[in-house]
Amino acid sequence: MGHDCSADETIWDDAYALDRAHVFHSWHAQRNLHPTEVVTGHGVWLNYADGREMLDFTSQQVNVNIGYQHPAVVAGIKQQAELLATIGPDYANLARGRAASLVARRAPQGFDKVFFTNAGADANENAMRAARLVTGRDKILSSYRCYHGNTGAAISATGDWRRKPNDYARGHVHFFTPYLYRSEFFATTQEEECERALTHLEHVIQFEGPDTIAAVLLESIPGTAGIIIPPKDYFKGVREITRKYGILMITDEVMAGFGRTGFWFALDDYDYTPDIITFAKGCNSGYVPAGGVIMSDPVAKYFDDVVFPGGLTYSGHPLAMGAIVATQEAMEREHIVDNAHNVGQDVLGPGLQALAEHHPTIGEVRGKGVFWAVELVADRTTKEPLDDASMQRIVAEADKLNLVLGVHNNRIHVTPPCVISAEEAAEGVARLDKAMTAAGC
Ligand code: PLP
Repeated sequence: MGHDCSADETIWDDAYALDRAHVFHSWHAQRNLHPTEVVTGHGVWLNYADGREMLDFTSQQVNVNIGYQHPAVVAGIKQQAELLATIGPDYANLARGRAASLVARRAPQGFDKVFFTNAGADANENAMRAARLVTGRDKILSSYRCYHGNTGAAISATGDWRRKPNDYARGHVHFFTPYLYRSEFFATTQEEECERALTHLEHVIQFEGPDTIAAVLLESIPGTAGIIIPPKDYFKGVREITRKYGILMITDEVMAGFGRTGFWFALDDYDYTPDIITFAKGCNSGYVPAGGVIMSDPVAKYFDDVVFPGGLTYSGHPLAMGAIVATQEAMEREHIVDNAHNVGQDVLGPGLQALAEHHPTIGEVRGKGVFWAVELVADRTTKEPLDDASMQRIVAEADKLNLVLGVHNNRIHVTPPCVISAEEAAEGVARLDKAMTAAGC
């Protein structure tokens, strides 16, 4: 029996009611779909249907790096849509070639091939698949504190509660990465934390059996798990250990890439070169879904003789590619990565640190560029995480002040678009300050 669509006519103009009636939402919104529709946006601002103009300190899923409705990106998508709105992967396509070349030039030297996907999760799926094929080994080692996506192998590689029991897959092993504020290793300095974390990783490798391990997969900066900045020498150490045992190294730049940290890739601030890099989000700020895998030349070369069994109908879709080209060109032309670096260094970092002086709930402020976590605690000595109700009160008070704020457990993640000006950043920090005071935090 079909659905009686005439019943919808009464709610045809009500985005929220229509949405609730027929859209089965993803996990972010199943319980708490925002009651207000977003009509449009510009830069770091979102326009709600109730007339409010909101300062976005989230970039949604930390992906709208270039801000809302960037005219060059909208034009690039339109232009590609008018030229060729769809074409399969069997044909060469100029937008795809240009997008690959623009993305590859952001990677270290010797990374010349890009495999396009539709998002970050399938980028990681394919990176792990490639590593397993190249090495002939099975296991993937990843951090307990990480998120790599919500598909089969990607959610199995994810370390925390988001990896549900029915997601356990063969061949995934987790280990601890550095987190000085809540050190697993009882370290008191970053140097000590780094050294002990590397010793721990090497022990895990030895216990698992080095010749069973295909790759170590790590976010360059663990994002949703807490924007935890690794010590300066950590990745260099991981690189040395992985080389010693013939293990590949995959760097997940899905959230941290394309300007978020004030660098094109977050790995640029560390002294190492992985074998594979995955990306998505910021490559075109989510204007059209896209992601991908950048392969170092030896990894790509392996597939000269072996067919790589990856690819979906829409991988490398021309509209997504047009959006990547326009986004990358605009980011370079408008010096958006430098802007993220400067705003982080001059305004967000010092501004958020200053909040800690009169908000005793602030346990730690950490980050770089437009990628910051403010970790809240009930007690600075015990570091007991601040309760959920207090966190939600801060979000509600921020909403009253027209500030969109994202919280993850006991942390506020301050992740505005990379185009945010110094004045807008200062305004956002001032609103956050007021919201925390109003929430009694
Ligand atoms: N990797 C990281 C580091 C992420 O933060 C995310 C999403 O937040 C993903 C992978 C998954 O990306 P997607 O949601 O586009 O599949």
